[in-house]
Amino acid sequence: MYDFKSETVEIQKKVRAFVKEHVDPIAMEVDATGELPLSILKSWKETGLICMVAPKEVGGPELDAVSCAVVMEELSYGCLGVATALGANNLCSFPVLIAGTPEQKKLHFGTLLEGNYGAFAMTEPCAGSDIGAISTTARKKGDEYVLNGTKCFITQGGLAAIYIVFASTDKSKGKKGLSAFIVERWREGISTGKVEDKMGIRASNTVELILQDVRVPASHLLGKEGDGMKLAMKALDSGRLMVAAQAVGVARRALDECVKFVKARVDNGKPLASQQAVSFKIADMVAAVEAGKQLVYRGAMLKDTCQPYSRHSAIAKLFCTEMAIRVARDAMEIMGVYGYTRETYVEKIWRDARILSIYEGTNQILRGVISRSLLR
Ligand SMILES: Cc1cc2nc3c(=O)[nH]c(=O)nc-3n(C[C@H](O)[C@H](O)[C@H](O)COP(=O)(O)OP(=O)(O)OC[C@H]3O[C@@H](n4cnc5c(N)ncnc54)[C@H](O)[C@@H]3O)c2cc1C
Repeated sequence: MYDFKSETVEIQKKVRAFVKEHVDPIAMEVDATGELPLSILKSWKETGLICMVAPKEVGGPELDAVSCAVVMEELSYGCLGVATALGANNLCSFPVLIAGTPEQKKLHFGTLLEGNYGAFAMTEPCAGSDIGAISTTARKKGDEYVLNGTKCFITQGGLAAIYIVFASTDKSKGKKGLSAFIVERWREGISTGKVEDKMGIRASNTVELILQDVRVPASHLLGKEGDGMKLAMKALDSGRLMVAAQAVGVARRALDECVKFVKARVDNGKPLASQQAVSFKIADMVAAVEAGKQLVYRGAMLKDTCQPYSRHSAIAKLFCTEMAIRVARDAMEIMGVYGYTRETYVEKIWRDARILSIYEGTNQILRGVISRSLLR
């Protein structure tokens, strides 16, 4: 177990209590309906963690990376869909933390801390891993930018009050012509389209976001024109650590459900747990979860101590997400039909876990990041 500072331990207790009271009772139902009640955001706001990374200067809790990882791990232990929904306020906040002016921070964090969702709007139908292919444009007109384009797969996009939108301010420069903007939901020309009907993390909202002649003041540009790619990559370095923490929470839950089952299930007159083939598989699962945990908290510590962590964050996401998918699969295998039916939590965990190796940079992209850091 990691030696967390006392403040982090208190946060862990708080999130565990939140999960018990607000997530456990609804997780299965929300998985079936795909509709997370809005009231959960209100209850989440009461914990003071609605925007964990919001700086103290704007009234936020300004949690360090270790504490943020603890929050994501514990929420994901309860339900990865809920963790994805409530965690959306982190990813969209990183670009503002990095490049935001005091006014931009006030606008962005003020909106989230009031009790709203924010969203990170980068992906497009023809621009997933290849961010350079983004076709949304932002054209400067006087002291405004006019944004046009369609984003897709935007987490909490249908419910967000504020977006960080990545758009091209100079097509001829490719990736280097990308810029990031703060865009409020109330602006004319913004609408949401298709709502994705997903295999897992059904508690989170994933939508198409359409921008048609959306005018924003020039002061909503984050950093300078052309800074978009750099901001996106830095935000994803932080975000990937959070996804790795989600994976650890998911894997821990699959393991716990499995252990509960094998202790209770009798096979040939003995608990299933007494079969060596089962207990050894569980030993492998425990070792994998523990290794993942070390990677997550080492990465968070590197970030908190201002050391380079980009490569480590890619390693943590790669290892932990594949570990969580494997642990969920093994838990289902050990539980047999009881892991496969919708009456046990493991079937939901198995579906939920699948997204972990896809969003915030697929694991193939991360293999590229890691290998290039060594081989170039
Ligand atoms: C539930 C969900 C929530 C999401 N939330 C958000 C969000 O909030 N904001 C947002 O902007 N996006 C979001 N996304 C989008 C997500 O980040 C992208 O799906 C992801 O980046 C991959 O893009 P793609 O699916 O278009 O795959 P593609 O880029 O089309 O890739 C397809 C396959 O090819 C592989 N591949 C592609 N390029 C390479 C390469 N260079 N080297 C090796 N392999 C490669 C990929 O690994 C993948 O296996 C979300 C997606 C989902 C499913």
